[in-house]
Amino acid sequence: MVDFTAIEKKWQQRWYDEKLYEATLDDGDEPFFIHFAYPGISGFLHVGHMRGFAYADMIARYKRMTGHAVCYPAGFHASGLPAVSLAKKVARNDEAMLTYLRSNGCPEDVIERLGDPAAVIRYFSEIYVDDYWKRFGFLIDYSRLMTTVSEGYKRFITWQFHKLRDAGLLTRKPHFAPFCPGCGPVAVDRSETDISEGGDAEINEFTVIRFRMDDLVLPAATLRPETIYGVTNMWVHPDITYVIASVDDERWVLSEQGYRKLASQLGENVQQVDTIQGSELVGRTCRVPLVDREVPVLPAPFADPAVATGIVMSVPAHAPYDYVALRQAAPDIEPVVIIEVEGYDIPARDAVEEMGIERQDEHDKLEMATQQVYKAEFHKGRLNERCDDYAGIPVSEIKDAVKDELLERGHAAIMREFSKPVVCRCGERVVIKRVPDQWFIRYSDEELTRMSTDHVATMNIHPPEYREELPGVLEWFDDRACIRKGDWLGTPFPFKEGWTIEPISDSTLYPAYYVVSKYVNDGTLEPEELTLAFFDYIFLGKGEPASETWEQVRQDFLAWYPVDINLGGKEHKTVHFPVFIMNHVAVMQPEHWPRGIFVNWWITQQSGEKISKSKGGAVPIPDAAERYGVDTMRLYYAHIGSPYVDIEWDGDLAYSYRQRLKRLWELHQRLLELDGPPAGIDGWLRATVNRHVGTAREAMENYELRRAANVIFYDLYNAVQWYRKRGGANREVIRQVLHQWIRLMAPFTPHLAEEMWDSIGRDGFVSTAAFPSPGDIDEAALEAEQLVRDTLADVEEILEVTGIDASDIHIYTAPAWKWQVAEMAMALADDGELSMGDLMGRVMQDPEIKRHGDAVPKYAKTVIEDVRRGATYHLVDEKEALDGARDFLEEQLDASVHVHAADDEQAPDPGGKKRHAIPGRPAIYAE
Ligand SMILES: [Zn+2]
Repeated sequence: MVDFTAIEKKWQQRWYDEKLYEATLDDGDEPFFIHFAYPGISGFLHVGHMRGFAYADMIARYKRMTGHAVCYPAGFHASGLPAVSLAKKVARNDEAMLTYLRSNGCPEDVIERLGDPAAVIRYFSEIYVDDYWKRFGFLIDYSRLMTTVSEGYKRFITWQFHKLRDAGLLTRKPHFAPFCPGCGPVAVDRSETDISEGGDAEINEFTVIRFRMDDLVLPAATLRPETIYGVTNMWVHPDITYVIASVDDERWVLSEQGYRKLASQLGENVQQVDTIQGSELVGRTCRVPLVDREVPVLPAPFADPAVATGIVMSVPAHAPYDYVALRQAAPDIEPVVIIEVEGYDIPARDAVEEMGIERQDEHDKLEMATQQVYKAEFHKGRLNERCDDYAGIPVSEIKDAVKDELLERGHAAIMREFSKPVVCRCGERVVIKRVPDQWFIRYSDEELTRMSTDHVATMNIHPPEYREELPGVLEWFDDRACIRKGDWLGTPFPFKEGWTIEPISDSTLYPAYYVVSKYVNDGTLEPEELTLAFFDYIFLGKGEPASETWEQVRQDFLAWYPVDINLGGKEHKTVHFPVFIMNHVAVMQPEHWPRGIFVNWWITQQSGEKISKSKGGAVPIPDAAERYGVDTMRLYYAHIGSPYVDIEWDGDLAYSYRQRLKRLWELHQRLLELDGPPAGIDGWLRATVNRHVGTAREAMENYELRRAANVIFYDLYNAVQWYRKRGGANREVIRQVLHQWIRLMAPFTPHLAEEMWDSIGRDGFVSTAAFPSPGDIDEAALEAEQLVRDTLADVEEILEVTGIDASDIHIYTAPAWKWQVAEMAMALADDGELSMGDLMGRVMQDPEIKRHGDAVPKYAKTVIEDVRRGATYHLVDEKEALDGARDFLEEQLDASVHVHAADDEQAPDPGGKKRHAIPGRPAIYAE
């Protein structure tokens, strides 16, 4: 029994003891710099995260085996909120957090310390290194590890921001930003670094219209301000207590939630002064601005206090919800139609009646009706004569006109709200807050965008579709608020006291710091030495070196940079990768701009969601390593699917790869015992292995990991099985094949490969051996064996179809004249002159061929069709090939096999089959 765990531990120990992973530059080696997007310190990782890391390790190992000096560093993104919020939860004994830590094997004495964010970072960076990366056999350069909250890194980021400012790429302006009442500013994006829900939320801009009621204002929020002309009434919730707030000397009525949102957006101008019960508003009237009409306030339990201001204006002719509610609350009020749409009389009523909606709680149907009405109005609707100056304008073109007029005349304000709930990692709802004086990185800069786009065209990007998308992403990428104030980890912003650089902005240029971190880690450089002048010299070659160490680091930087591959998950496509490119273009010299990006998709749960700790259900990494084996998991990642599709996690499938490796190991053991003599089939195996080596190498050069794995773990396995079936047992050949095959396996299943390497008596590590190159491929040997396989399959089919229990099989190989015709047809096709006339004209000049009379045009016709379909004919001595395989064929067919040349006049032809033999397809007769 093969003990995968023992093999893994043994070889990892040796690799790490001998520091196989250290990036060193030997003379003449071509450098290769690969890193993956460093993970955030946010808790335990799972099998989904390991997919991309494993790809990076396979590529790095392949490059190491093809004569490259490989720099494959890693680090930890510890900035921002995640470590702080984890520590906070531990500090307040949050039950869910404690359970989470314990269930992942975190010891009690460690938990006690995790109330401190620094301890959180220390603990998890050790877990990532020991339990994940080293446990999976990654040859990451562990001498370069870094975190983004170290003193040296902070000095690096400080330098980056000085460079951005010098380049005119920092700017200040007011900003509405996502804000957690508990934690301060948070980033809302698909990477969900700070938040646990709502990464794809957008910010909607509501127009809040002031409806006046005596000394009060009822502010109703809408995304369609033009519908103000159709307002018939207002809705308030009778059972809730509204806040009365002073807003610019007015008294606004707002739901509690609406008040808090408005206060965060308008600041100190908004103060609560009183409260009022919803029911006290019901029955009164208020005035619709612009239209100047009194409308009643009606009770509505559906007026959701969490949405916008909690006050709703009712437009029953165009809003199905309003129509249904009004029909019930005040049937005597008539809807006011303000949009003419072909096919509708009163659009909301028509849609409601068509769908048979009776009640306000038929939400699905009402939502459908709302969408239907909105689409029809948007595409085909025009405002009618009730809309004053706007009459006749198509709805699709009205855009901001009504909003602007309302704002200009003081009838409205703007309120921003997320399109869906956004929840902070701490559990609080995220709101939108006005920051009067925010700093941005000016990614909208035209020159920067153009230069970045031009550079992308030169990059090596996988998958290629992403390269097509990137120019659009760069164009769309807007200025990004780059600092925040609050309880954060990160680098202090150098130009505004008390503010911290936010996490997406401090993780753009960082691979450059891996060149420096090595010297900080080993104590050669003190963090204090990392001044602006230091980085100017190291990365830009400006100024003078202060020491020999500086010169050394500069040389390292020149040698290693630029990055060849930055590998990361698809969530980085619109967040990290664009800023990675743009900051390099903005700060670094052109020869140091990145060369390549590799994007991997996710491992998903069966629900199709990204596996995520917060959503539960992921397999912990140490468990997977134990249960399936590390090589199994690596092969699973490489082979289960294209890197560019999501893969649904399936433990049974992962287990099937373990079975595959077990069989591979057993085959290897059996092969080692073989000690047979040379045989005819040896040439075929050599040629086949050479061909597979060529394919695997070509695939690896293009990072086609799946294609390479398929050749190495399946095609080669099958080839060796066929060789054995054909009686092949040549010790010499088998040793040669294993010598190649094991090296092919090494990037994918390095532990098993080392064990096999050792067992064939090779010195040193296979991990540092040369990836094999294909030798000359004996095409004739491949063709000859293919003929044997095809012929065997043909005979078996004939026996099956006819049901004959044959004692004798006659096989006739094609006569020489047919070969000549086939060759002439190919020659004519090469010259683009293949036609029946040309071919016949040519072949009939040969008296030997002409002698065969009617059979010639008949065969010529077949050949022309085949060649036009793409068939080619390789000169194989078919008789010799089949004669050589006769023992094998007899054994397989359990019959006597007779091989004849069709032009052997003496050959018996009891079935009259001889004349059917053609090149590549012998004729067969069974009796
Ligand atoms: Zn929070």
